[in-house]
Amino acid sequence: MALVVMKFGGSSVADADKMKHAANKIIAKKKSGDKVVVVVSAPGDTTDDLLEMADKITSNPPAREMDMLLATGEMISISLLAMAIDAVGEKVISLTGPQAGISADADHTRARIKKINPKKIKQYLAKNNIVIVAGFQALNPKGDITTLGRGGSDLTAVALAASLEADFCEIYSDVEGVFTADPRVVKDARKIDYLSYDEMLEMAGSGAQVLQARSVEVAKKFGVVIHSRSSFSQNEGTYITSEEKIGRQKMEALLVSGVTFDKNQVKFTIIDLPDTPGVAAKIFGRLAKIGVNVDMIIQSAAVDKKNDISFTVSKSDMKKTHIELDKIASELKALNVICDEHVAKVSVVGIGMRSNAGVAARMFDILSKKGINIEMISTSEIKISCIVDEADMAKAVEELHKGFKLSKKS
Ligand code: ASP
Ligand code: MG
Repeated sequence: MALVVMKFGGSSVADADKMKHAANKIIAKKKSGDKVVVVVSAPGDTTDDLLEMADKITSNPPAREMDMLLATGEMISISLLAMAIDAVGEKVISLTGPQAGISADADHTRARIKKINPKKIKQYLAKNNIVIVAGFQALNPKGDITTLGRGGSDLTAVALAASLEADFCEIYSDVEGVFTADPRVVKDARKIDYLSYDEMLEMAGSGAQVLQARSVEVAKKFGVVIHSRSSFSQNEGTYITSEEKIGRQKMEALLVSGVTFDKNQVKFTIIDLPDTPGVAAKIFGRLAKIGVNVDMIIQSAAVDKKNDISFTVSKSDMKKTHIELDKIASELKALNVICDEHVAKVSVVGIGMRSNAGVAARMFDILSKKGINIEMISTSEIKISCIVDEADMAKAVEELHKGFKLSKKS
């Protein structure tokens, strides 16, 4: 008998039929002899709809009230799913995040899970219940509801799997697993059977949207095996686990495991900054203070004791970044601030890069042969990312996928 955490994403519980379908999958798992804890997201686009509703009321909602609102989405799912399971005659109970013993810090709308007390879940499991837990929400030290950031139900699922020492954490969505590239962009993309935590982290951080990056960090920390698979088929999906565990399957490790893209990028350039110590510290310190995550950074060589700094942030941070940069630029007497919204990041990811030099050169060569201009570059041990014009993005992804031989045929 195994203990399994099954997480269903919003598209898997988007309407009554899909809820019933998910209920049947859950019941089948239970009948096969496993103990089952289920985590669900809000149905379909509910979270986006709630955000829109709030936006119609005010552009500056209190974060606490935002969390009160957003947490209702997942409560729709847990209660309806429990009804669907009860209707078939199985023992079931739904729990909110706080009822399930999930505590987080006080950082509203992007809280971090601090502790899980799984006592109640265990009691219900012992009494033969299927336990359904609302994803994305927790209780903060003040006794208020917080939410865990977009896609946070994945985090709930993985954290619960760690806390309960579950054998598997199955993440069900509307895709078959993690692909070598987004199949909507690359027609012959392949499903990947095994990925290491680090590869998945780099892929999630560079645009692959199958799993929330923070959930993968937690899975890595606690050794939770994630199985990302489709709600709508019986096929095996992608297992995300440690490098040691997949060592065997990956004997001839590919150079590159996947190609990703991220359109959610904006490039800022500050022109003619003084070339003196403390300038970068000031700019990025101030941005950190207002909660802006900076991704790629380049600084040009100094000419006449002045240089330019360019960097990217996510589109959702564009407005506040621009306002802050205008202030900083005038304080530092820089010439001006330029914002380019029409950029995209394309990345290649793979643990095979560690032991193979020349992957970057090959990437640049593939892009240059198609006349694609590279605006910025960043590298890590297992990832190379380039900022390109948004108009070139799809072509870049396709060519890289082909060039690194990731297609079905190769
Ligand atoms: N409903 C939340 C969101 O849309 C959490 C989740 O789906 O994981 O971000
Ligand atoms: Mg979701």
